[in-house]
Amino acid sequence: MDIWFKTPNNLEFLQPFYGFSVKGSTFSSVKTQKFGFRNFFSGNWGRGVCVKASSSTLLDLVPETKKENLDFELPMYDPSKGVVVDLAVVGGGPAGLAVAQQVSEAGLSVCSIDPSPKLIWPNNYGVWVDEFEAMDLLDCLDATWSGAVVYVDDDRTKNLDRPYGRVNRKQLKSKMMQKCILNGVKFHQAKVIKAIHEEAKSMLICSDGVTIQAKVVLDATGFSRCLVQYDKPYNPGYQVAYGILAEVEEHPFDTSKMLFMDWRDSHLNNSIELKERNRKVPTFLYAMPFSSNRIFLEETSLVARPGLRMDDIQERMVARLNHLGIKVKSIEEDERCVIPMGGPLPVIPQRVVGIGGTAGMVHPSTGYMVARTLAAAPVVADAIIQYLGSEKNHLGDELSTSVWKDLWPIERRRQREFFCFGMDILLKLDLSATRRFFDAFFDLEPRYWHGFLSSRLFLPELMFFGLSLFSHASNTSRIEIMTKGTLPLVTMINNLLRDAE
Ligand SMILES: Cc1cc2nc3c(=O)[nH]c(=O)nc-3n(C[C@H](O)[C@H](O)[C@H](O)COP(=O)(O)OP(=O)(O)OC[C@H]3O[C@@H](n4cnc5c(N)ncnc54)[C@H](O)[C@@H]3O)c2cc1C
Repeated sequence: MDIWFKTPNNLEFLQPFYGFSVKGSTFSSVKTQKFGFRNFFSGNWGRGVCVKASSSTLLDLVPETKKENLDFELPMYDPSKGVVVDLAVVGGGPAGLAVAQQVSEAGLSVCSIDPSPKLIWPNNYGVWVDEFEAMDLLDCLDATWSGAVVYVDDDRTKNLDRPYGRVNRKQLKSKMMQKCILNGVKFHQAKVIKAIHEEAKSMLICSDGVTIQAKVVLDATGFSRCLVQYDKPYNPGYQVAYGILAEVEEHPFDTSKMLFMDWRDSHLNNSIELKERNRKVPTFLYAMPFSSNRIFLEETSLVARPGLRMDDIQERMVARLNHLGIKVKSIEEDERCVIPMGGPLPVIPQRVVGIGGTAGMVHPSTGYMVARTLAAAPVVADAIIQYLGSEKNHLGDELSTSVWKDLWPIERRRQREFFCFGMDILLKLDLSATRRFFDAFFDLEPRYWHGFLSSRLFLPELMFFGLSLFSHASNTSRIEIMTKGTLPLVTMINNLLRDAE
């Protein structure tokens, strides 16, 4: 039955401050123009406007968004002094703060600029526990599961023997902020609008009229891509997901495992039209069961071009929850997630340095990035520290060139090209083919699928990974990979050759 529900009405809580996570709100017109996102949302998502969606009053349970701030006294940047800081970090997400912390630790002066520097990051981040363990960040996980489950279909289940965790955003941000404060980082609460570069320094013009001068500028503004320049057409795939952290009467999942992917579609048996939509562009359920009645549930389109509409995803989610007998009593928070995946890298090198979403670091086949970015932060920080140091005394363009080289060395660029190839294949798979793909993928030796998901395999190993995947695939899947993968393979080889030149 079709029921009408009201859209959330907290329009001021807009996306540009949060990458592409939207908490009960919509995108700004700026973003709509830049990335052509209007098609993700049905009609007008304005205040109090009704949007037609099938079934359920689930979204009526979505709370007014709460903005939770950290309780810190921040040392603020004093524009009247007119000092030239060593590093200005634009954007206080995980990527920006990680670099600010590490560069300031070496005694360099850093200014961190963000419109809401104290705000706890809004995204619900999941990571593999070994990734955080390797960075000594286990204290920044607030829930862990001993393994994960993948439902390929009603008959096939994969039990993944790899612990998974949810990032404690408050703890991670507090930890980084405390270190920044101790190291003397200064904060400025504003948006950067523009950068003007001179030979040895840059001027950042902020939304409040303040100008901040810095020897190096790091753009860490996530998918907003505030300052970093791109010179090729931007044609990413999009991961789109709708998630809720909910109190439920009960749910059918084992609380010791997280649900990595549930590709079952029997919940759509009553709707031929929905089932057909899901056959063509499938979505899966991702879930973190915290207890028998508290769970994070996210209906996810892994990657599609154009991205799936949010109301389509919500409709599928409601059908799934009904089928699984999950009755939602209340929703603590919800997230509308749109992650651009793949597409070209920014111009390398360029004067402004980048990290995180703005620097093409999202995994093109999975949409994951937090662990990879946090692991890359020391690379960027060390490069800045080293090149700003007195011995080399690189400045301006020379310095940025060196930093970009360290962030995107040839091995990483080749690795990314391979992941883009993976994405191009995934874009072409319907539900049955997707299932066959993941059936083979999770049968691989753990070092292969762990390494692929965590960006730990480089080109020679990735070739073995590809061959191994092919050998584990069913005959149907092999034919699919050959027919659907040939063009992406040619593109990848061309890009690799061009890059080598
Ligand atoms: C909803 C969602 C869920 C995700 N879940 C996961 C996950 O589970 N696991 C994972 O690995 N990855 C996940 N990702 C992908 C990725 O890890 C995140 O997007 C991550 O937040 C990116 O970090 P970042 O620091 O690059 O950018 P962001 O976290 O987006 O931070 C950018 C910061 O820049 C600020 N900013 C923007 N414009 C300006 C400006 N002009 N001037 C000053 N400041 C500015 C913003 O206010 C923000 O604080 C998710 C992404 C989304 C959107």
